[in-house]
Amino acid sequence: MQAITRKRQLRSSDPLWSHTRGIAVPTQRSLPDGDVDVLIVGAGIGGALMATALLDRGLNIVLVDRRKPVHGSSMASTAMIQHEIDVPLHRLAAQRGVAAARRIWQRSARAVESLTTLVGSLGIDCRMQRKKTLYLAGDAYGARALRSEAEARAEAGLTAELKGAAELRQAFGMDRTAAIVSDVSASANPAQLTAGLLRLAGSRGVSIVEGVEITDIRSVGGDNVVATSKGDLVRARHVVFCTGYEFLEAVAHKSHAIVSTWAMATRPHHPRPEWLKDYLVWEGADPYLYFRSTPDGRIVVGGEDEDSADAFRNEAKLAAKSARLRRKLKALIGFDIEEPDYVWAAAFGVTADGLPMIGRVPGFRNVHAAMGYGGNGITFSQIAAEIIAAGILGHDDTDATLFSFR
Ligand SMILES: Cc1cc2nc3c(=O)[nH]c(=O)nc-3n(C[C@H](O)[C@H](O)[C@H](O)COP(=O)(O)OP(=O)(O)OC[C@H]3O[C@@H](n4cnc5c(N)ncnc54)[C@H](O)[C@@H]3O)c2cc1C
Repeated sequence: MQAITRKRQLRSSDPLWSHTRGIAVPTQRSLPDGDVDVLIVGAGIGGALMATALLDRGLNIVLVDRRKPVHGSSMASTAMIQHEIDVPLHRLAAQRGVAAARRIWQRSARAVESLTTLVGSLGIDCRMQRKKTLYLAGDAYGARALRSEAEARAEAGLTAELKGAAELRQAFGMDRTAAIVSDVSASANPAQLTAGLLRLAGSRGVSIVEGVEITDIRSVGGDNVVATSKGDLVRARHVVFCTGYEFLEAVAHKSHAIVSTWAMATRPHHPRPEWLKDYLVWEGADPYLYFRSTPDGRIVVGGEDEDSADAFRNEAKLAAKSARLRRKLKALIGFDIEEPDYVWAAAFGVTADGLPMIGRVPGFRNVHAAMGYGGNGITFSQIAAEIIAAGILGHDDTDATLFSFR
């Protein structure tokens, strides 16, 4: 039988975060008896934020994953938490119209704010730090495109300071024709963030089940009846698929592709520019380069995406991509980059417009999904949690149609 979500290997080798403390989550091995108000499928950042958005509403919530919690793509994330969507605002405006594109970017900025505030107020220990983003001109978006982008963002009320070549060289020691500096960014340890949210949800009554796959879903008498790999049938009023790049087959679409991406992390206290502690850096190039630092002074670097769903499994490529990332970073910041402590590669879901698809799954009743996360999976998970929770709780989210299944 075909699986309900598309099964795939999600990453190769151990990402940096797999060896950090505080990423264990107490779980059960089977679903609790009885009907469920909300069944969340997927214990990554998407499922964790979804559960958090529904806490303390008197709902019986079960969260289930076929893996151990946090062991999907969320473990591989470099966790640059940004409102900058992969498709710049001025380009998105051409695709979706100015008003819709502005609302999407504004919503993305609000989501980063909400997430950083939420993590602070819940006391989740995940090394969350507020940062700025430096968006560098590259071969895909040059100085002219960045000027248009800075104007488009300013008109949308989003901070975007355009820097010229001289200023960039002086303040950052980098040789580029232009860059945009923006606020509203953050970074974190994504495994600790996800695990911290899940532990909190568990302590507030959410049942977290590992090692159980959801294999089928049928509508029976207005409810959903869900089948599991253990042969159980569960009746759930709402089902939410937060299954990352193992997306629901029912909403698979040709505009949504899986590509391969690479990342690496240096040793702690690696030589690095002083300013890097406060910035996330993104290069408007194809293939792009992005990097940031961690509180213990590692440099985390990623990029080099390839349009192949399984190139990330190739061992030889892992070494070659890591060498290339180091070379590119050295050329940009002028620091030698030592052999990294961690190099990893992963599957990465992209959509043509860089936007996620969030909402009710067409053809089902009370089945919701969030998918197609691209480079903003954490920010988009927050938006998904807000929109889907509003739908379940019977409120209106006026931005819901901006992200609905297309
Ligand atoms: C190398 C890399 C770097 C990235 N960098 C960034 C970044 O800097 N910033 C950013 O915002 N985003 C980044 N992302 C994207 C972001 O990490 C992902 O979009 C995000 O982690 C997805 O979270 P998720 O919870 O949806 O998926 P996952 O973490 O994959 O969780 C989904 C879970 O669903 C489970 N599942 C699937 N199907 C079933 C089923 N049928 N039954 C039961 N369980 C099921 C899986 O086992 C999995 O554990 C990056 C991604 C990669 C790979």
